[in-house]
Amino acid sequence: MGVNLKRYGLYLIRWQLSTPILAGVLYLLTDLGALTATIIANLIGGLIFFWVDRFIFTSETLAAQWEVREEVKCVDCGKVARGYRLVRAKNYDKSNDPAPEFRCEECSKKKSEELKKRGVKH
Ligand SMILES: [Zn+2]
Repeated sequence: MGVNLKRYGLYLIRWQLSTPILAGVLYLLTDLGALTATIIANLIGGLIFFWVDRFIFTSETLAAQWEVREEVKCVDCGKVARGYRLVRAKNYDKSNDPAPEFRCEECSKKKSEELKKRGVKH
């Protein structure tokens, strides 16, 4: 399984976010003693970050990969502009497409809606 860099990056940021929360709880509960305060801090962290982690590891939006290329001809309207194409999503894989189709921003949005209607989540 390849590592999805978006998921990995978010996961690293999430660990940084957990630091001030856990430190704050430890500070507030310092009278309970270090061990008890740590247990409660980790319990609170777990209650919050279970949901954050679940999103990071299962979100289909994060699974989608886009390729952006400058100065390409849009396959729909022929305009030469910055082009976008969806490379991979859940139940959609064009990573080995021999003739990749790029679309300008406007046509890409239309195509994106069309794919969503066809059940390709991205
Ligand atoms: Zn276009």
